[in-house]
Amino acid sequence: MTAIPSHIITEISTIVGSDSITTRIEDLHCYSYDGTAKPHLPDVVVFPQSTQQISEIMQLASRQRIPVIPRGAGTGMTGGIVPLHGGIVLTTTKLNKVIEIDRDNQIGIVEPGVITAELQRAARHQGLFYPVDPASLKYCSIGGNAAECAGGPSAVKYGVTKDYIIGLEVVLASGEVIHAGARTEKSVTGYDLTRLFIGSEGTLGIITRLIVRLLPIPPHKETFLLTSHSLRRTTEMVSEILNNHIKPCTLEYMDKTAIAAVSEFMEKPPSESVKALLIVEIDGEKPVVAEQAEKLRRLIEGQEEFQLRQAATQDEIEDIWQARRAISPSVLKLRPNKISEDVAVPRSRIPELVEFTEQLAEELELIILTFGHAGDGNIHVNIMLDRAIPGEAEKGAQAKDRLFKHAITLGGTLSGEHGIGFSKAPYMSYELDEATLNLMKRIKNLFDPNNILNPGKIFPDHNTLD
Ligand SMILES: Cc1cc2nc3c(=O)[nH]c(=O)nc-3n(C[C@H](O)[C@H](O)[C@H](O)COP(=O)(O)OP(=O)(O)OC[C@H]3O[C@@H](n4cnc5c(N)ncnc54)[C@H](O)[C@@H]3O)c2cc1C
Repeated sequence: MTAIPSHIITEISTIVGSDSITTRIEDLHCYSYDGTAKPHLPDVVVFPQSTQQISEIMQLASRQRIPVIPRGAGTGMTGGIVPLHGGIVLTTTKLNKVIEIDRDNQIGIVEPGVITAELQRAARHQGLFYPVDPASLKYCSIGGNAAECAGGPSAVKYGVTKDYIIGLEVVLASGEVIHAGARTEKSVTGYDLTRLFIGSEGTLGIITRLIVRLLPIPPHKETFLLTSHSLRRTTEMVSEILNNHIKPCTLEYMDKTAIAAVSEFMEKPPSESVKALLIVEIDGEKPVVAEQAEKLRRLIEGQEEFQLRQAATQDEIEDIWQARRAISPSVLKLRPNKISEDVAVPRSRIPELVEFTEQLAEELELIILTFGHAGDGNIHVNIMLDRAIPGEAEKGAQAKDRLFKHAITLGGTLSGEHGIGFSKAPYMSYELDEATLNLMKRIKNLFDPNNILNPGKIFPDHNTLD
């Protein structure tokens, strides 16, 4: 654990200003945890207001070998912002300006602390939209989205954060400021450093400015709820929809436990006999949406295990979305603790993955529920626990381990969008071979030779080059 000498704290305070730094113990607690609820205290929290200040902090931290943990809004699910070794938590909340929305070129320039929903609002004022829509969009920051490569329901049609960030300003561990990418749709000048920083979880540099691609707002959207008495058929239906030339902008899935957890938020909750549901949304020009919706109706027609209902009013649509976004917090009424995973598998393997989690739940006598972005094979698996019950934490760890191994045998991956943080770091070798992992460790070493940027994340011990 770092203990930063008081004269260094004074130096940091001189850089950011005395109203943008805190060492008060109650504040340190507030900046010690994220969704993993496994806290560790920093020594100091700073709120810089410029790239220059961040550069100066990094120069100082580099000289003094002090860990620096970049932090957006703290909504991460894998411990990315937890200061495992103490040090400086560097929050971007004061870097929260939408600098420019360039309507003609359909791009935006933003600071990293801008809340994702704020960027969406600013774009909408200019007739444009930023499609990446994590369920946490009202709280998370665009810098955090870039560092995690966040996704959301619309990824099935529009892709994820890496598809929308075309340029970055980044402060390196040394304090140098670099510029990756350009404000043009295309740029192949040298290596694609932008992509390297996207999803790097604050381990390679601090993102201080982003150039984002925006799209024209689709003029029309229709929302459907597809409920079923068959879990298997619901999960099979995901591929069937996409293979029938239907291109939804949302294809979200919920099993019966997830539905039960949020049905109180729904005006018209599905009946108790429903085993699973899909939220299907189609957007675009009105005639195209009508044609796609008709294809969906024809696909379902005659399949008695399904019921298709179209949301008729805006209230009904909001009702569905409120329920979908409430799953994560609501499930805590089932058990006080949870292990929240976001494995992804090829879409056609979703039925096998979901059936495996059902078997696992039965065998280990745990509640395990599944929901999420089925359209891109990204299934959220919540393993519910009561850590106060002896043996329950161990059963949870076993379930997590077996889930990861199974997802990988299905051709899947440890994380579709939440990243690795420290919670999945021990499992990296399940998915990546030694040569690949070592190359990643060398990249980390090149960018951050003193391991001061978010140490302990992605690789538990990055300096061990096996
Ligand atoms: C209820 C709920 C629903 C969620 N739904 C989704 C979802 O649908 N899709 C999804 O992808 N995620 C989801 N998440 C997870 C989380 O919201 C995302 O990972 C989000 O991108 C994190 O943003 P943040 O600003 O909170 O980042 P933080 O939690 O503050 O940080 C996350 C990581 O990014 C790094 N970081 C932050 N800012 C910077 C920066 N400027 N430069 C460099 N590194 C930085 C941090 O060091 C850390 O490693 C959900 C979380 C919750 C609580």
